[in-house]
Amino acid sequence: MIYTDTRDSSVKTDFRTAVMGGMNPETGGLYIPVSYPKIDSSFINKAADPSFREIAFNMAKPYAEGEIPDQDLTDIILDAYPFISKVVPVDPVTYMLELFHGPTCAFKDFGARFMARVMSYFNRSESGTLHILVATSGDTGSAVGSAFHNVEGLDVTILYPAGKISPLQEKQLATFTGNVRALKVNGTFDDCQKLVKTAFTDADLRKKFRLSSANSINISRLLPQSFYYMYSSIVVRNRQHDNSIDNPAIIAVVPSGNFGNLTSGLIAREMGAPIDGFVAATNTNHTVPDWIATGEYNPRPSVATYANAMDVGAPSNYERIHAMYSLEQIRHLFASYWLDNDGIMQALKECNVKTGYIIDPHGAIAWKAWDDMRHGAMERLIADGVQKSDYTKPGLTPNIPDWAQKVVDRKAVGIILETANPAKFTATVKEAIGREPPMPERLLEIMQLPDHAVPMENSYAEFRGWLEANLAQ
Ligand SMILES: *Cc1c(COP(=O)(O)O)cnc(C)c1O
Repeated sequence: MIYTDTRDSSVKTDFRTAVMGGMNPETGGLYIPVSYPKIDSSFINKAADPSFREIAFNMAKPYAEGEIPDQDLTDIILDAYPFISKVVPVDPVTYMLELFHGPTCAFKDFGARFMARVMSYFNRSESGTLHILVATSGDTGSAVGSAFHNVEGLDVTILYPAGKISPLQEKQLATFTGNVRALKVNGTFDDCQKLVKTAFTDADLRKKFRLSSANSINISRLLPQSFYYMYSSIVVRNRQHDNSIDNPAIIAVVPSGNFGNLTSGLIAREMGAPIDGFVAATNTNHTVPDWIATGEYNPRPSVATYANAMDVGAPSNYERIHAMYSLEQIRHLFASYWLDNDGIMQALKECNVKTGYIIDPHGAIAWKAWDDMRHGAMERLIADGVQKSDYTKPGLTPNIPDWAQKVVDRKAVGIILETANPAKFTATVKEAIGREPPMPERLLEIMQLPDHAVPMENSYAEFRGWLEANLAQ
């Protein structure tokens, strides 16, 4: 596969360069493949439910072609995915896609584990340590730290905004040892991201250290997230006996922050996944819903919310989405929706009351988006027209995608991406539903470990000084 750059389409490079570089240091742009090859339709149209790992191999293959032999790619996938994603129906037209069965209990395990193994594969033929710098708004850091822990030749430094992530998330980051460590920055996620981006464009620093990123800007994190869209949409398509709808529109509802997950959904659809549309669901950081409604893209500082892994005011992957599609195409394909903190609490509770399912604050926004759309919001939007709706208010934002009427006519099914185990947000969930979600064993164990996080001011000079004093060359 040839990879190009979101800022300069004359750039042509290979998978290794895209993965090991993270972003193009010359342009500051993000790598994207030049094409998204269709998966054989006989594979997609099989009536039997597919194997997740078989899908993973078939979807990864074109992107690694000529650079990772089939047997090595198979090994990478088997080692990355000892767990799977689960499709759980909660009513005849609503499916939770549980993406939290990996080691850190959030969907980022899917991307991070594949990326770590691909980087390790490519790093075997390099000399010296490869330093991964990663900014996290919560779950990225733990997934990346866990995925790279004890991987030889690789070294990980994680930056997170002090006090702006949940105590359990903080514990997951602060307890790493060995080749993985965390810096707790006195600032926001955007500040952390800026420190990392500045380091990547610091030519002097790059002469001293081999640097790479592990954020969702790395293409090797994005590609594997497309596997579960393909998997779940085929499983859901095969379950028509649940609802007896002929050929329902399949809508993926995606709780979004940096928009890596949603970009992966677009990749899956390009490759033939039977997905008719997407809902971009956000918290108060509704930069992308505003863009879809108004046509103007205004990145802004992030605002802290209960769905904190989505507290991103300037989503990096906007650049990829916009490189893949025009605003018009996006408007045909996407609905968008957002909730403030009150709305998130209400959604957590309502989901539990209506379905019995305990959802996390991120998934709750997606569930509520789907529930609202089906129960009048889309019909009102179509009746009133987009001009009459106010995009600055929470709820369904004024855009009518091609599949909107199918939702009104009850000819659509929704896949709600449940991105984290609700136990990662115990306090919020308990406040909403009156009881605590069950805590998985692997999270209980982490709570017992000692903290090692290093405090850091929001200052590039201090960050750079720390790197020079502490990283091995
Ligand atoms: C990271 C994260 C998101 C947002 O995913 P993006 O790819 O950044 O849009 C949503 N939910 C949870 C639990 C997350 O950790």
